[in-house]
Amino acid sequence: MELPTILSEAIVEFSKLPGIGERTATRQMLHLSNWDKIDLLKFGESIKALSELKYCQDCGLFSEVEFCHICLNEERKNSGTICVVESVTDALAIERTEHYKGLLHVLGGVLNPLMGVGPEQLSVKKLIDRIRKDQISEVILAVNPSLEGDATCSYLKMYIPESVAVERIGFGIPIGGSLEYLDSMTIGKALENKRKL
Ligand SMILES: [Zn+2]
Repeated sequence: MELPTILSEAIVEFSKLPGIGERTATRQMLHLSNWDKIDLLKFGESIKALSELKYCQDCGLFSEVEFCHICLNEERKNSGTICVVESVTDALAIERTEHYKGLLHVLGGVLNPLMGVGPEQLSVKKLIDRIRKDQISEVILAVNPSLEGDATCSYLKMYIPESVAVERIGFGIPIGGSLEYLDSMTIGKALENKRKL
């Protein structure tokens, strides 16, 4: 049976989400199409509003204004420590631990030449600028353990001034794991057990 265009277009859009195949998308969109009009419009509006999200000019986290509350926090600014993560979700995972009191920096991914991700696609330059500007003395690389993650850490280490201590979290994070799915205690432990690079 041919689906109405409205429905098939919604399915195409929804299946762009990671981990959502065509079958799941179809099931979910059929489910949505049964919602009340008001609820459906509200749902649609909330998705639409995502395009208006703003990010901190410095660290890459969400922020309504130029700089986020973490970058503006004097205590965190004066900590001299910056923790580098791949994504906003990883940054949120670090924040959830309430263990870390320094600055954060969202890299926007890891180096992956095969997928066309080079240093220019990540906020590497911004990171090096911040290290200089904010007089950072310690960099914690909270990059997920993977081949690409390891290569990214080695790359960053080359460009971080030698006077800065560079450490990488390790203990407790499984290979191929993602901070996003780990419990706060595991992440807390990993932060404690960071090692010098
Ligand atoms: Zn910020």
